[in-house]
Amino acid sequence: MSYPYAYEAPVSQTLFDRAAAVTPGGVNSPVRAFRAVGGTPRFMVSGTGPYLKDADGREYVDLVCSWGPMILGHAHPEVIAAVQAAVARGTSFGTPGEGEVELAEEIVARVAPVEQVRLVSSGTEATMSAIRLARGFTGRAKVIKFAGCYHGHVDALLAAAGSGVATFGLPDTPGVTGAQAGDTIVLPYNDLGAVRAAFAAHPGEIACVITEASPGNMGVVPPAEGFNQGLADLCRENGALYISDEVMTGFRVSKAGWYGIDGVRPDLMTFGKVMGGGFPAAAFGGRADVMAHLAPAGPVYQAGTLSGNPVATAAGLAQLRLLDDAVYETVDSVAAEVSGLVTAALAKEGVAHRLQAAGNMFSVFFTEDRVTNYDEARKQEAFRFTAFFHAMLAQGVYLPPSAFESWFVSSAHDGAAVERVAAALPAAARAAAEATA
Ligand code: PLP
Repeated sequence: MSYPYAYEAPVSQTLFDRAAAVTPGGVNSPVRAFRAVGGTPRFMVSGTGPYLKDADGREYVDLVCSWGPMILGHAHPEVIAAVQAAVARGTSFGTPGEGEVELAEEIVARVAPVEQVRLVSSGTEATMSAIRLARGFTGRAKVIKFAGCYHGHVDALLAAAGSGVATFGLPDTPGVTGAQAGDTIVLPYNDLGAVRAAFAAHPGEIACVITEASPGNMGVVPPAEGFNQGLADLCRENGALYISDEVMTGFRVSKAGWYGIDGVRPDLMTFGKVMGGGFPAAAFGGRADVMAHLAPAGPVYQAGTLSGNPVATAAGLAQLRLLDDAVYETVDSVAAEVSGLVTAALAKEGVAHRLQAAGNMFSVFFTEDRVTNYDEARKQEAFRFTAFFHAMLAQGVYLPPSAFESWFVSSAHDGAAVERVAAALPAAARAAAEATA
């Protein structure tokens, strides 16, 4: 397949070639390589408000927002000022500091089920640590996760491709041991009956159920009415912990994340992205009696040289403190406006599609059927997304380079930015309509 816009970015292409010589696949996180859509990944040099600028000097309206964190847009002056002030005081001390206390207090104040919280540096670390804590607390080994939910590259949570893989304890990716894979039970999303059956088949063995509070990693697939509550109930009935992964949704879809929308109380929660203000900061927290099992209060070990880093916590705290009701109203209305424009443009060209939203997160599936789980998500005509993506990119709109990712907007996406998106959509919708497999 050839991509008409593939070599429109000569400086990015040169950088990508250099990168490929010294870094596997030329990137430090796989999706950045554009493998799902082809073409040259754009190397970005700066971001301001809703815009990114690439190494070739082209500007894009950013509908990825660093995969969620940049909810105030890029280089928000107050966040930058907080970071500059923190940097000037020194960048890492390896001791406790007041900023960590303030960030923890901010999280505890916003999200009622979080009585205690531990700061870490990535969402992966947060989910990995929450799983270890759940196992340590319950004395059980097995973990239930859902196909299509991503929780970072934690060994136990990558063992995931389907029931055959799970049944035979085969790793889903080389490097994950059979033992790790064998302790992971992968179930279809939105299927409470499957969860009930798994608990019945493994009495007293399941430490926890982990789920994205509202999945955004297979495209946006919200939980069915009652699904999260059903998980919480089944966990309680079976002595397992319910872990809600809010790395993506936390502080993005409301002040208290998805918990602020559905009110279902988890035992443990994980956070990242928005709470770091664009820096590596993440967290896990929840019931105080469970968190009390963490070292040094308890026996479950967990640590980090850069955990609670003063610059990262200053960025996160500055961003969180700016996230008031008005910001969420703005982000929600921008998301509604952009998704409405996308639907209208695709409908005008007769492209079968389904726009799904969870709060201000949304994505487009190129199918007319409602998508409720990963198998359904995979039935979409992803080749249409490829054409759509490249047409948008060529017109200066940066979408996630995969049909299976959420789109993100920020409070900095003003009328001018939305207009640019609107102007790009007719040609992109036409490209999607004309695309062939
Ligand atoms: N959990 C969810 C729901 C995520 O979306 C992600 C990342 O996209 C992670 C965990 C992993 O976070 P990180 O990439 O910071 O390790």
